[in-house]
Amino acid sequence: MGRLDGKVAIVSGGARGQGAAEVKLFAQEGAKVVFGDVLDDEGMQVEAQVRELGGDVTYLHLDVRSEDDWAKALQTAEEKYGKLNVLVNNAGLSFGPIAIEDTTVEDWDYVMDVNLKGVFLGTKTAIPAMRRAGGGSIVNISSTAGLVGVGRIIAYPAAKGGVRLFTKATAVQHAKDGIRCNSVHPGAVDTPFFGDPEGAPERRDRSRSSVPLGRMAEAIDIAQGVLFLASDESSYMTGSEVVIDGGFTAQ
Ligand code: NAD
Repeated sequence: MGRLDGKVAIVSGGARGQGAAEVKLFAQEGAKVVFGDVLDDEGMQVEAQVRELGGDVTYLHLDVRSEDDWAKALQTAEEKYGKLNVLVNNAGLSFGPIAIEDTTVEDWDYVMDVNLKGVFLGTKTAIPAMRRAGGGSIVNISSTAGLVGVGRIIAYPAAKGGVRLFTKATAVQHAKDGIRCNSVHPGAVDTPFFGDPEGAPERRDRSRSSVPLGRMAEAIDIAQGVLFLASDESSYMTGSEVVIDGGFTAQ
């Protein structure tokens, strides 16, 4: 028996990294998954890989900044799979200069739009569908940068801190609908987010040495936590922060 048997999920940013790990794990655990990204070739490859293993997943183009794209993702989930039980707002990026004084309004808006407005739009789209389904679970991927000031970047922690409290407000507002909402706070995860492994060795070394467990997370380390929050095993959890960081913020 799968831990998500009978559930239908939408995952954003699922073409690679943590999102792709979540799509694969969810399918393995019995969920039907609609997932989207702006990297369509990679997304189609993930769809083919999962289907080859017998999973039922559908890729579509989903720019999380677009309300129309979200509407199409929901329509696909409901028409193809009948309902929506789980949303993982995973898509995210870090972009632009480090110093506040060097950050343009365009840089700021771009990071906010993908990381924070994208979470708002996904949640807004999912809520009526989850109500129709009798409840649901929303998992928002924030970051340790949404908990503590890392100082090396500026718009990103502002957005991820926003995701943290947007999550709690959603949890309180929609508990009455049986909709739970929790945030996940990964530390450094070995995905393309960090750039080519060959191209960013210093950044990777710095990340490794700052983590008590002595290694970066693999995407599956985070996906396992997301699976728990998506499943009924976490049915008494809402508005919570799940930190998966190898002890980084415990220091
Ligand atoms: P990643 O870069 O491998 O994956 C992010 C995905 O989001 C990519 O497939 C990308 O194309 C997609 N994306 C970017 N802009 C998009 C948009 N406008 N619409 C739809 N999709 C879009 O990185 P990852 O590590 O898998 O990141 C997943 C989440 O985890 C992100 O929210 C990220 O901020 C967060 N996070 C990552 C780390 C880390 O160290 N890798 C740490 C903490 C939090």
